Amino acid sequence: MSKNQRILLASRPHGAPTPDNFKLDEADIPIPGPGEILLRILYLSLDPYMRGRMDDAASYAAPVPLGGVMEGGTVAQIVTSNHPGYTAGEFVLSHSGWQSYALSDGAGLRKLDPSSAPLPTALGILGMPGFTAYAGLLSIGKPQPGETVVVAAATGPVGATVAQIAKLKGARAVGIAGGPEKCAYLRDELKLDAVVDHRSPTLPADLAAACPNGIDVYFENVSGPVWDAVFPLLNQYARIPVCGLIANYNSTGPAPGPDRLPGLMRKILTKSLTIRGFIQFEFAAQRPDFYRDMTSWISTGAIKYREHITPGLTNAPNALIGLLQGQNFGKLIIHVADPA
Ligand code: NDP
Repeated sequence: MSKNQRILLASRPHGAPTPDNFKLDEADIPIPGPGEILLRILYLSLDPYMRGRMDDAASYAAPVPLGGVMEGGTVAQIVTSNHPGYTAGEFVLSHSGWQSYALSDGAGLRKLDPSSAPLPTALGILGMPGFTAYAGLLSIGKPQPGETVVVAAATGPVGATVAQIAKLKGARAVGIAGGPEKCAYLRDELKLDAVVDHRSPTLPADLAAACPNGIDVYFENVSGPVWDAVFPLLNQYARIPVCGLIANYNSTGPAPGPDRLPGLMRKILTKSLTIRGFIQFEFAAQRPDFYRDMTSWISTGAIKYREHITPGLTNAPNALIGLLQGQNFGKLIIHVADPA
């Protein structure tokens, strides 16, 4: 390829994103200056947070500017290096976005050894989503043996990891997912203690039946009707790490219905609930522990992971649109190119 393929944010979505919010562009491959590295992107991670970056709204990170390259975590191979710490041919984890080539000054790069773990795992189970599950569950959820832990989006890289770590800690893991195929995977492959389909018309009753002793830890990934089903089942001293609210990411206004805040506050008080939001990077000091534990758990088969790899950078817009509708089954990754 003689050009740098890039996917730009063409317009900001109103509600669910559509293909015309993105624009495919071709630019010259950048030339590295002194101290710089030219990266060729091999894999691009697609993550729910990208929907938030498409809005011009206050958040924990700045939005992608209109006309800017869509943001994202990547696995790349070094093409040329003017940086003393890096050599052509090495593999790195970078945050290079939706494009086929990028420059780096070395800041924030992490070298990857493809002989110790497959390269895409650096974007999933051994990367940001796996770490999110580890840090959020263990630091905020603190599951105890015999307790009931509930998590939704449970076949995704965060939810599946939460559920399996909960089991490793001796808790009862209940997974919520959309549709029979995903539910079968949770039951038959991950061996969760109970599984609930959030598309079921009897979701509240199904979840109550799956949690006969109530819920001690609810790892919040989705909000919406799942939260409504969880809320009445929360036990005294339940912990709720608030990790994500994907059911709301395409919302264009407040949810309809009566104001439920007084009821929520009352239950926080009377049940002594701990509801604690987090963004994974606040726990960065735990990353060495995470790599040690997760590498060991994967090697013994105690933790399994599933990847959903889609070929072609140009398919990234539709893949992200699909992720927000539950069309991915496992960690969603775009295969941009093969190693040289
Ligand atoms: P997933 O790969 O699990 O993809 C998202 C999944 O969410 C979909 O596959 C779908 O699964 C489910 N989903 C989508 N819409 C709904 C809905 N309306 N109701 C219920 N489920 C829905 O994503 P990740 O594992 O990467 O991320 C999971 C959550 O963690 C997200 O909310 C994300 O924003 C958050 N997150 C937060 C971080 C932090 O630092 N706080 C860091 C990383 C992720 P299904 O078909 O099963 O419904």
